[in-house]
Amino acid sequence: METLDCAVIGAGVVGLAIARRLARDGRDVVILESEDAFGTHTSARNSEVIHAGIYYASGSMKARLCVPGRKALYQYCAEHDVKHQRIGKVIVACDDTEIAGLKKYKAQAEANGVDDLRMLDLAELKAMEPNVRCVAGFLTPSTGIIDSHGLMLSYLGEAEDRGAMLALSSPVLGGKVESDGIVLEVGGTEPMTVKCRTVIISAGLKAPDVARSIAGIPAATIPPTFYAIGHYYTLSTKSPFNRLIYPVARPDWLGVHVTIDLGGRVKFGPDFEWIDRVDYQFDETREASFYKAIRHYFPGLQDGTLQPGYTGIRPRITGPGEPVQDFTFHNHSVHGVQGLVALYGIESPGLTSSLAIADHVASLMV
Ligand SMILES: Cc1cc2nc3c(=O)[nH]c(=O)nc-3n(C[C@H](O)[C@H](O)[C@H](O)COP(=O)(O)OP(=O)(O)OC[C@H]3O[C@@H](n4cnc5c(N)ncnc54)[C@H](O)[C@@H]3O)c2cc1C
Repeated sequence: METLDCAVIGAGVVGLAIARRLARDGRDVVILESEDAFGTHTSARNSEVIHAGIYYASGSMKARLCVPGRKALYQYCAEHDVKHQRIGKVIVACDDTEIAGLKKYKAQAEANGVDDLRMLDLAELKAMEPNVRCVAGFLTPSTGIIDSHGLMLSYLGEAEDRGAMLALSSPVLGGKVESDGIVLEVGGTEPMTVKCRTVIISAGLKAPDVARSIAGIPAATIPPTFYAIGHYYTLSTKSPFNRLIYPVARPDWLGVHVTIDLGGRVKFGPDFEWIDRVDYQFDETREASFYKAIRHYFPGLQDGTLQPGYTGIRPRITGPGEPVQDFTFHNHSVHGVQGLVALYGIESPGLTSSLAIADHVASLMV
């Protein structure tokens, strides 16, 4: 049986960031990816926003990893020529009832160490975003946008330069924990059985399923799987916005907000609906609800200008009616298996936090 030092299961942005980090630490890394290309799931189906770190509960892993992750990401992009833009974001209250929500965000952001927020008066708001209907708002200048594919390519390139190997079309089908390592059954065109000193489960939507397929990981430590789909519509006209625009959100997601990609195209979304399997099909019956939600803050939205875009699925480990999970990391102190780190529920802001997540995972391996 072939033996490996370190297997990272999953080549999304988080798995690739971890592979890069471990390869830089001198580990021999193989990335096992079930698809025939890297980054085709959540890492290719998100808003591509570099989040400031505003919304997350104080002390949560999301709060603790987003702010340093964001700072590290800007530096990384500048040093490695990954396309990005510090475009800024305005969070708006559309009527007086939403102002309390706005104030709550500001307090939460400051508690999380986001120290550059600026309340805007109405005249400033009108000058900055003349097409947005609102009564109050604040600017978060450190929010940005990024080419997530370019970022993944850069992480992979660096990992490969340090000797890491990406094995595509190599799904992990199961495995077992042994006294001197973790045996993985890898399928695909060239099936193999490998024994690994260290395994990182970074399989996104499938992370709990992968953990369940490895005998010896106590079932009671593996969280349940829930999926929540989000749709994006694109705007067929020139951008009426200069920055990202976020309305005051609901408790479980950030609302139908405006993002602008690096090509200047405006996207609205994502919305939120629980689903029971990974199916990215676009449900076009959502159009009317998008027009309604967007006109709340952009009354100038013309009929016929929204085009179906794409969907993404949030990897949830808590379900309907339950509090939204935090990023969850299990090492031997949780599941008792030496050499195994499992990541669960790495939804937003996982892209922003990817470098900080990789550092955290490295710290959990010692
Ligand atoms: C709608 C939406 C919008 C978002 N917007 C943002 C945003 O603007 N900013 C931000 O910071 N974050 C955002 N996020 C979060 C961010 O996209 C994710 O946190 C990040 O992409 C997760 O990366 P990952 O590598 O963990 O997962 P993935 O990208 O899903 O990668 C997991 C990989 O594991 C592979 N895999 C699965 N099972 C196996 C197996 N058995 N064997 C081998 N490989 C396997 C998959 O094929 C996949 O390639 C958003 C998420 C969603 C859903």
